[in-house]
Amino acid sequence: MKVRTRFAPSPTGFMHIGNLRTALYAYLYARHNDGTFVLRIEDTDQERYVEGAVDLIYKTLKESNINHDEGPDKDGGFGPYIQSERKQLYIDYAHKLVELGGAYYCFCSKERLESLTDENGVRKYDKHCLNLSKEEVQAKLDAGEPYVIRQNIPAKGVGTYEDLVYGTISVDYSDLEDNILLKSDGMPTYNFANVIDDHLMGITHVIRGTEYLSSTPKYNLLYDSFGWERPVYMHLPPIMKDATRKLSKRYGDANFNDFIEKGYLPEAIINYIALLGWSPKDNTEKLSMDELISLFDVNGLNKSPSIFDENKMKWLNGLYVRELSEDKFYELALPFINKSKVAGKYDSKKIAHLLHSRVEILSEIPEKINFLEEYDQNFDTELYTHKKMKCNPEIAKTCLVDSLEALSNVKEEDWNNDNLFDVLVNLSAEKDYKKTTLLWAVRIAITGVLNTPGGATEMADVIGKDKTIERINLALKNL
Ligand code: GLU
Repeated sequence: MKVRTRFAPSPTGFMHIGNLRTALYAYLYARHNDGTFVLRIEDTDQERYVEGAVDLIYKTLKESNINHDEGPDKDGGFGPYIQSERKQLYIDYAHKLVELGGAYYCFCSKERLESLTDENGVRKYDKHCLNLSKEEVQAKLDAGEPYVIRQNIPAKGVGTYEDLVYGTISVDYSDLEDNILLKSDGMPTYNFANVIDDHLMGITHVIRGTEYLSSTPKYNLLYDSFGWERPVYMHLPPIMKDATRKLSKRYGDANFNDFIEKGYLPEAIINYIALLGWSPKDNTEKLSMDELISLFDVNGLNKSPSIFDENKMKWLNGLYVRELSEDKFYELALPFINKSKVAGKYDSKKIAHLLHSRVEILSEIPEKINFLEEYDQNFDTELYTHKKMKCNPEIAKTCLVDSLEALSNVKEEDWNNDNLFDVLVNLSAEKDYKKTTLLWAVRIAITGVLNTPGGATEMADVIGKDKTIERINLALKNL
């Protein structure tokens, strides 16, 4: 049997991390088994439809390198792949199901349905219309009365199935309701459309969130009524914000786009979310898409909810950032350099070079370099004091006087990191300073801050000769 999995998002807004993980697992399972991965757009809930959400689904999948084999834009012979284009199919199958006894027409008014609400505000349909005779139903249909089609769930019995993640799941039919399958406007509900589509699209493995775990027996009844083979199910545990709160897209938590804007790399996001509910046998944490495909297996899936830990994703992102080529890093870092105070002031390539090994996510860039334009000549001179560097304001002063002279003699065309380093190292040898002491003093003097992405000569190289000389002069006045 050829494996066919699907990702079936509803275009209701951003792609949050939970959704993307579902897509990823369905993709990995298909690829691992040489199967087919299908994209289906579930847009039957017109009220929740959000303009632009479909485009965002494509964009996100593409950026994440989760490539569907079939979908609205890639016909594989099982289309249409957009539910609103399949309306007639659902209508035909709903009527067929009525004939098969798995569903029935319901003509109840809104008022009658409301009257079924109990004192706790819970409403359960009472199967009223199931008791209508064939003639009564026909008369109402002939009279053009509006109707819905409801699923006929047995009053007694237990629905049981094996979930690949959660094991045996049993639900009492008495806990389920005769849900609407087809609305009065002819649109199906999710409860119906997911079964019709999964069957007609030949889906062998249904991979989705645990919110569907306990309603799956209802879907199985539909498969059984039609005489169709049930698919294999894999329900995925929720992703939590912390011990008690679920990550949820309603509150704008954790969506893929936000993370990209923050300067996460898609491959790091994918790597991280692959680990939210699954782990390989040897617990390796850094895994490329190809490695994920080859290692992904059901045994590694976890039943317990996973907590989304942004710090861990950041750490992982840092590993990916360091692996980028110098050019690629520059290309990705530039928009963030341009958002900083140093935008357009210095050589962005040099800045990017310094930052490459020093950021985990790209949005850290402005805060790491803004200091270059926030120089305050009256900075606290205690910054010079450092035990290990054997420096203090007094020692710094003599170092700076000598450095000023040596650096002033460097020609503009020789002003680069390597050369400046040689100049200052030679100077410290000549004057008998510890090399690290001199470099420390110069770096503090020209930046005015304790932590900088790079040493004294790298900083001097970036800010240029004029500014370096000017700042050493200012720093000396402060001593
Ligand atoms: N459209 C459903 C959702 O977005 C899909 C659930 C499923 O995969 O069956 O939750």
